[in-house]
Amino acid sequence: MASQEQVRNFLAHWFQLGKPVVVAESRGECLPSPVFQGEKYSSSFENCWRKIMVTRGRDCYLSGTNQSIAELLLPAWDVTDCARCDMPIVLPTAGMMTDLCPCNDLDTWPNTDVPTPRPAVDSRDRLGSLQQRLGQ
Ligand SMILES: [Zn+2]
Repeated sequence: MASQEQVRNFLAHWFQLGKPVVVAESRGECLPSPVFQGEKYSSSFENCWRKIMVTRGRDCYLSGTNQSIAELLLPAWDVTDCARCDMPIVLPTAGMMTDLCPCNDLDTWPNTDVPTPRPAVDSRDRLGSLQQRLGQ
């Protein structure tokens, strides 16, 4: 199943390509910018996530996809990489993928001329490897 952190990472990647989330209850779209502040999610991203979590993701969609954020958080879905563009996409854990990657409607993607969207750097990981290096 997709964890909350995986779904946040999934959204962060697509936000970097300009794909907004359509928020439930006609509260419009949200496209945080910047997505990151330093090595953490930006307050703009966190505000957007809070808006999504008002309905626990129900009726909130990444533009161009058919699964609500609430569905992605169910055990039936998993986050993996698109074969075409290496962006994170959601896949049903059972059965066939019927929807295309959201990159399908981005004419300009994949584009090797722009920086690839990145995940937030987990400072705990970095600290861990630093500690490992110091211990050697
Ligand atoms: Zn793709």
